Amino acid sequence: MIPLDSKLPDINVTIFTVMSQLANDHLAINLSQGFPDFDADSDLIERVTDHMRSGSNQYAPMQGVPSLRQKIARKIRDLYHFDSDPDTEITVTSGATEALYAAITSVVRTGDDVIIFEPAYDAYAPVVRLNNGNPVFLQLKPPDYRIDWDEVEDKLSEKTRLIILNSPHNPTGSILSKSDMTALDTILDNTGTLILSDEVYEHIVFDHQVHESILRYPSLAARSYVVSSFGKTYHTTGWKIGYCLAPEALTREFRRVHQFLTFSSNTPIQLAYADILDQEHLYQGLASFYQKKRDAFLFYMKGSRFKPVPCSGTYFQMMQYHAISDMPDIDFARWMTIEHGVASIPVSVFYHTGTDHKVVRFCFAKKEATLERAAEKLCRI
Ligand code: PMP
Ligand code: GLN
Repeated sequence: MIPLDSKLPDINVTIFTVMSQLANDHLAINLSQGFPDFDADSDLIERVTDHMRSGSNQYAPMQGVPSLRQKIARKIRDLYHFDSDPDTEITVTSGATEALYAAITSVVRTGDDVIIFEPAYDAYAPVVRLNNGNPVFLQLKPPDYRIDWDEVEDKLSEKTRLIILNSPHNPTGSILSKSDMTALDTILDNTGTLILSDEVYEHIVFDHQVHESILRYPSLAARSYVVSSFGKTYHTTGWKIGYCLAPEALTREFRRVHQFLTFSSNTPIQLAYADILDQEHLYQGLASFYQKKRDAFLFYMKGSRFKPVPCSGTYFQMMQYHAISDMPDIDFARWMTIEHGVASIPVSVFYHTGTDHKVVRFCFAKKEATLERAAEKLCRI
């Protein structure tokens, strides 16, 4: 055997793969990994097959299909009043995951600090480390998981290359407010720090609150990579198409990486999204669609000993289980899957220190019948 030193020796298979596998092995209801158990719109599926049948089966342009980039620019102007150039500022990617990787890789150099708020989606820190950057972790605390901007200011230095934001936030369901954005703007003024804003749940914000996209704040947008994904919006997580919007100079660097990461993304699916992107009702109705599911799940869980954490966005509901067990959350999530037939995600895996607040995350992007059956089991614990 040729000896091989791992570049990420402490990284195991992601929790999403582990818990979905465990759910399948034990025939448990899978509320762990985030994906819908209902199908995408049949018109969208037809459009993909039409584009395949009419011969759109070769490489798309490296930056993405022009009609899709133009439609994205138009949508962003309508939603956030932000003008962008689809040729020089928008790049279509193979899911938000690829966009995150390309953005981090294009700007983080050896020794650069990158501020990451924990609990954090698991695709950020490993990529920072692969680029020899230093993740600087700031912990958000339950129950509201708000950012302490004074703490951010304390951590900020000449070495801070990037701050990674995620709103609506996976796994907590918290969202950034206008005052968060203003605080960020003030802190970053006169610094060379860039922002990577992961906004994949931009259309899933509840209770008449507003998604505070970076794009609503031109001075922040001028230093930002904004990433989104069609997987969440169109119930098509398996299609893996997302995009990154950034000022021209940042996009130039982004594409230097993107062109060697995937070169380009799936052609017929890009064309199909371009066909339907201006059908506003498809994304304008998403918040109320998921709010109904959140509320149904909370209603069915009323008789349980779980305590919900307030959820303002995403399709995840976190629940504290102090009243049930003092098991570590990883053991608790395994035990619930195997013994009680419901899979969830233990939230400690999103902290580099494994901080365990005894909270698990349930995905409610499911048919109401699935949520009802799962809650029935959870109420018996
Ligand atoms: N960021 C966050 C916060 C996510 O939850 C996810 C996936 N659920 C992604 C990025 C990745 O999105 P995609 O599937 O488009 O790669
Ligand atoms: N983002 C999804 C989640 O948080 C999962 C994505 C994945 O499996 N990599 O559950």
